[in-house]
Amino acid sequence: MQKKWIEGENKLNKGLTQLEAEERLEKYGENTIEQRKKKRFIEYLLLSLKDITIIILLIATILSSYVAWKNHPDNFSEPLVIFGIVILNIFLSIRQQKKAEKSMEELKGFSIPETKVFRDGQLKMINSTEVVPGDRLLLELGDRVSADAKLIKSKNLLIDESFLTGESEPSEKDEGYQSMPEDSIGDLKNKVFSGSLVVSGHAEAVVEQTGLHTEIGKISGLLTEEAPMQAPLQVRMQKLGKGLGGVAIGAAFLAIVIGIIRGYSIEVSIMTAISMAVAAIPEVLPVVVTISLSFGIRNMAKKKTIVRTPAAVETIGNVSVICSDKTGTITENKMTVEKIESVLSNEKPQTKSELLLNFYLASNLSEEQGEHGNPTELAIKKAAEKHFGKRNLQQKLAQYDRIEEIPFDSKRKIMTVFYKKDDTYFSVTKGAYDRLPIAAPHSDYQKIHDDLASQAYRVLGVAVKEYSSFPKHVTSEFLEKDLHFQGFIGIIDPARKESYQAVETAKKAGIRPIMITGDHLLTAKRIAENVGILEPGTKAMTGFELGKLSDKELSAIIHDYRVFARTTPEDKIRIVKALQENGETVAMTGDGVNDAPALKAADVGIAMGGGTEVAKEASDMVLLDDNFATIIEAVKEGRRVYANIRKSLYAMLGCNISALTIVLISLVLGLGAPVTAIQLLLIKVVADGIPGFSLSVEPAEKETMLRMPVSRESSIFDNGLLRKIVEISIVFTILTLGTIYVSRTFAIQGIRPSTEISDTMTFIVLGLSTIVHMYNCRSTESIFKVGLTGNKLLVMTTLLGAVTIVLLTIIPQTAGILGLAVLHLYQWLFVFAVSMIPLIYIEVKKKLNLF
Ligand code: ADP
Ligand code: MG
Repeated sequence: MQKKWIEGENKLNKGLTQLEAEERLEKYGENTIEQRKKKRFIEYLLLSLKDITIIILLIATILSSYVAWKNHPDNFSEPLVIFGIVILNIFLSIRQQKKAEKSMEELKGFSIPETKVFRDGQLKMINSTEVVPGDRLLLELGDRVSADAKLIKSKNLLIDESFLTGESEPSEKDEGYQSMPEDSIGDLKNKVFSGSLVVSGHAEAVVEQTGLHTEIGKISGLLTEEAPMQAPLQVRMQKLGKGLGGVAIGAAFLAIVIGIIRGYSIEVSIMTAISMAVAAIPEVLPVVVTISLSFGIRNMAKKKTIVRTPAAVETIGNVSVICSDKTGTITENKMTVEKIESVLSNEKPQTKSELLLNFYLASNLSEEQGEHGNPTELAIKKAAEKHFGKRNLQQKLAQYDRIEEIPFDSKRKIMTVFYKKDDTYFSVTKGAYDRLPIAAPHSDYQKIHDDLASQAYRVLGVAVKEYSSFPKHVTSEFLEKDLHFQGFIGIIDPARKESYQAVETAKKAGIRPIMITGDHLLTAKRIAENVGILEPGTKAMTGFELGKLSDKELSAIIHDYRVFARTTPEDKIRIVKALQENGETVAMTGDGVNDAPALKAADVGIAMGGGTEVAKEASDMVLLDDNFATIIEAVKEGRRVYANIRKSLYAMLGCNISALTIVLISLVLGLGAPVTAIQLLLIKVVADGIPGFSLSVEPAEKETMLRMPVSRESSIFDNGLLRKIVEISIVFTILTLGTIYVSRTFAIQGIRPSTEISDTMTFIVLGLSTIVHMYNCRSTESIFKVGLTGNKLLVMTTLLGAVTIVLLTIIPQTAGILGLAVLHLYQWLFVFAVSMIPLIYIEVKKKLNLF
């Protein structure tokens, strides 16, 4: 069906126009094999009924109905309110599920792979979902093929399509192949298939099938839905929630047992049990974690970091080492040839012009590269054009017949081009001086090289070789030996201006920045010194030295090393492993196909926005601007998210635990149940849950980047959080029990103490002190320093909570339903004063630096 578009295609060379592409997108749909299935309401509902909170609340509804029916059949307000809360919880849970799905969708949207196509005659990067039949694709090393397409031209093309054919070896492709009817997918050498990977060479191809019509699309119905991505933190919080649910049930049983022992009626015991269960469950906790994480993901996207795995938000905040590429990440990747140094060659010195021309001849001159090409190549091209003039240069080039190119690769670090001129043949090789196999090395050469390199120049040498007749093989082994060396160029690639500051910030945050580069040791060291990575007492190593060390030896000494020079991508994975062996949490950057394993192995793999699709797929994050400083911003955001989740935990668990102990202790002391289940539920929603959410938008604290990273094994409760939670629970418990005691003991202006008044005062103290405590949780600094209104959302939600609690108490109708009594002014003043005590207590501790 779709094929019709291809046949008779006469615009092959320019690709489609944007307009045509849009029409076809309309007609054939997006190029995706995902069938988005809308979940039905009933599915959401069933999922939410699995939630332990809702189960407990449902049980509570049933028990409370039973008690009401037994005791006061005319008043079912309590079971009704609890059931109302069940409905509210189900509603929130469904909303939460939808929200989580939406943020996952968003995440996927961010990480959609891209494809190079020709549109309106120009090379463009588009989302792979927008590829349509008839599009002309450019496929290069490291690209993922995004649709089924027919080759129109190719060079040395090797494709990994093992997922379709089961072949483990990459397949050679050839646009000239004539397909036969009985051909299987693996035989179709003139076609490439969606999902396969370019492992060498490059090609252009015209798309024939997209989306579900592709080979992979046809079998995608068989693929199961992928599991939802969850951060370890979310999993841990769900576990914690379940654990506390267990505690709730245990406490409820305990309440019944104590009730029976103390001789309460079975109804009172049951109602107390319900209060206990309600008190202990942290309903909103998992939600808070999810929201905090997705908030962090969105913030990072604004700051040019795309998070691909939610776990990375947490992990990036805790990295202890960041291994970064030099070129393009720490430096600008804007290269300029600044030095041209010729040497004596065959006893005659080269002129600068001859030298520069040879460098130019040894370049990859393909036009397609345009502005996005390899910066080293571009620098040479620009220098040559400036020196000779564009026209002049073209004329010179016309005298040479370019026969073959052996491309640059970061392992060999050199490249060679083979030419014919008149009746002679010759090859020009350029690249790293120490990798140029020259016939007669000279100590002067090395001196010139080292001199340039130690001034931070990226140094390339050039050498030639002549042949009287056409050589036997035009291969690396044959051409790249016994070369006649001619001279050097020094390319400057300045450090990004943000790099120095970012390195400083990283070091203060307890993170060791490490620079990894293919460049020469001297160049690397100089740049590392300039940006502050290499300091006195730290060391640099070459890939050669690295190769001689065993894994054990490497991890024993790696702590002091900050620079790895003349490395190959394979070295990166050894560096990651050696660091991890020492208990480090490692971030690693990369952009090439060969970087993918190291990105996978790292705790946080960071791909460059301009890198290959393969690197991006292997990564946890993508840096849109390729900038080292952006990684540090992401670290800061990660730490903020983690800190805020801890703040929410502090706020919420303090309330939960104290509610539990208060009910339990009152029961043991024979004070009855001081707060009812409905009252506790109310407090947990308006005083605890809703304001607790607001803590997730707290801005980063000043010392965020002055703290050491948290180790991989440490729990979220470490660093004193558990102690703080227990401590504030004790404070809450003492205050509440004190209130119960005072309100039941002392008469005020003739009003006799009563349990109704006592219960009302307890309710208000619990609610308001929980609200006030939110301001303790905001920061480790005094609120008078941080300011009261910094978090607008918190101000709003806490005000709302406090007003709700007060209104519910003074409006007769609601007070009636909740079983609350009218308070005297003095009693109001008393509960307000008591509710401020947690704030005063923590402020004093902060003042004394004990917090
Ligand atoms: P990095 O990406 O870490 O800067 P590369 O692998 O790109 O490292 O470069 C390593 C060395 O290879 C450079 O110092 C230079 O001598 C040489 N080199 C880099 N690019 C080219 C190229 N296009 N042609 C020839 N040699 C190159
Ligand atoms: Mg490079």
